[in-house]
Amino acid sequence: MKINNNNGHTISGLGSGAVGYLNESEETRNIGYYFVEGMKSLGHTVYDCTIDKSSSYLYEAVKKANRNKSDLAISHHLNCHSNKSANGVEVWVYDMSHKDTVEKAKKICEEISKLGFVNRGVKANPKFYWLGHTNDKAMIIEYCFCSNEGDSKKYNAKKMAYAAIKALTNIDLNTTKPTTNNPIEADYKYENGSYNVKATIIGTNGKGLNIREDRNVNSKILGTFKEGQVIEVNYCLNNWFSTWSGGQKGYVNGKYIKLY
Ligand SMILES: [Zn+2]
Repeated sequence: MKINNNNGHTISGLGSGAVGYLNESEETRNIGYYFVEGMKSLGHTVYDCTIDKSSSYLYEAVKKANRNKSDLAISHHLNCHSNKSANGVEVWVYDMSHKDTVEKAKKICEEISKLGFVNRGVKANPKFYWLGHTNDKAMIIEYCFCSNEGDSKKYNAKKMAYAAIKALTNIDLNTTKPTTNNPIEADYKYENGSYNVKATIIGTNGKGLNIREDRNVNSKILGTFKEGQVIEVNYCLNNWFSTWSGGQKGYVNGKYIKLY
């Protein structure tokens, strides 16, 4: 299967997701990470169409998606509503005419509802940009409501992603070993999630640790922490921790820190 994958919203600023009991922008990336790595580990092709920073992220995400022909274009989201009791999973499709896509969407709702979420079912809206502008069959998965306390307590990014994978492939990654040699977390020292603890800079051969503008080694260097310096690290995603230095948010590579 070929998939165009979009982790919904930008990370922060324009186009960023809802913030309730969970932060949508962070969690769509957590779910997306497990989803992408999981699908790849089963031998499927996944094209990343995630846009971390943009003033028109939907336009750019769709543009990326339309470069590759896929069987399905998926955008991961968490729902949000001013009525805090709204809860459950729903999947949006362009319309109900494409039986295969509707069937896949139904299965995703069913698998996620097995994790204890209310099944709100499959809904159609051709006006959603991702659904209306991608060239492929598309869906938007609203895994649960970040504005609902109960949903947020039940929430687990890996379980959500694996439920979606099971719906699409009939393979349960909780119990099945990946078929390709692509260990999902082998390179990563730390689990994704909130830490908010002190950490020491280690293993930089005295060079110090760069603070990056984004979670990758190619992004702009905002500053450097000295070897041995004690810093505070906050949120970890794909082994990159967010941190603050001089009033500015940046990211450090988890390879070079030791948590307290
Ligand atoms: Zn969203």
